[in-house]
Amino acid sequence: MTITEPGNPPPATLRLRIDRQAIAANWRALATLSGTAEAGAAVKANAYGLGVAAAMPALVEAGARTFFVAHWSEVPDVLALAGGGEVAVLHGITGEADAAFARQTGAIPVINSPRQAQLWQDAGGGPCHLMVDTGINRLGIAMEELGHEVIAALDVDMLMSHLASADEDTGQNARQLELFGEAIAQRPARRLSLSNSAGIALGADYGFDLTRPGLALYGGVPRGELEGVIRQAAFPEAAVLQLRQLQPGDMVGYNATFTAPAAMRAATVSIGYADGFLRARGPVTALQYQGHELPVIGRVSMDMVVVDCSQCSALREGDFVQVPFNLASASNACGISQYELLTTLGSRFERA
Ligand SMILES: *Cc1c(COP(=O)(O)O)cnc(C)c1O
Repeated sequence: MTITEPGNPPPATLRLRIDRQAIAANWRALATLSGTAEAGAAVKANAYGLGVAAAMPALVEAGARTFFVAHWSEVPDVLALAGGGEVAVLHGITGEADAAFARQTGAIPVINSPRQAQLWQDAGGGPCHLMVDTGINRLGIAMEELGHEVIAALDVDMLMSHLASADEDTGQNARQLELFGEAIAQRPARRLSLSNSAGIALGADYGFDLTRPGLALYGGVPRGELEGVIRQAAFPEAAVLQLRQLQPGDMVGYNATFTAPAAMRAATVSIGYADGFLRARGPVTALQYQGHELPVIGRVSMDMVVVDCSQCSALREGDFVQVPFNLASASNACGISQYELLTTLGSRFERA
């Protein structure tokens, strides 16, 4: 056999169907809930695992113009699809190379510390955003640093803060809102931004000039107010690789955690923990085929999972089965956060 150019691989046995209309509808719903504030879009981590190639056109068409990523490495792909909109980088300026890349691409750094401010100014400065910490203690300058000379010298387009617990009813939300008000009084900026997806549902006080939804764009429901408003946007499906007959006493998978109590039919399906179907989902998840439930039996492997298809005689090798991905209910069932369910999806899905 002569080996030639590898060309395109054959169709994948693992697909992620992306409902672009759902993404667009979710953005519009969040924009409406944002009131007078503009809604941006957090598209970090490859649009939370859905893929920027699928998500960005839907978001741009719906009207999003301000995009947030975490890393500079995420800028080229997002910028290319931003439709002339702007891209902000949440990790800010960690070294001289970041500043140079910011100037070269026009992506806007979110300055998080006096050191970052100094690095940005040393590189020539220019418009930036400024993150002030109001209680999450993760990234952002401290309230006491707002008056620092190097902070005062910044050309701040947007003053931002980030809510720690907006998905909960807790006093921390109001405390962060109050502190943000104090920050604004000390360091005014052209624009103000506080809320993530859950923050948008906390009401108009939390909207300011720009909101930064992420999770809910992709189908996540972090608060009850968003139930029935946000639509599922990602639908994983995986092919049956093999069907087998189990005899009573046959054991399935690594460490033999399942033993067939009776004769049964089992299907080996092309999705595993490397595709975000983590082991914690196994015991609480049934895959689906034409309305039939296919409970997972045994441990989830890296590339495969075995399901009981005794009740579904129509299932054949090569058929695609559905993987439940209602984020709120899947998260409730297995204890993995909605964010982690999305961002661990992995790169082997054919995203269509
Ligand atoms: C990720 C992120 C967001 C989006 O948050 P969601 O909870 O996904 O809506 C907004 N702002 C900042 C600073 C973030 O890091």
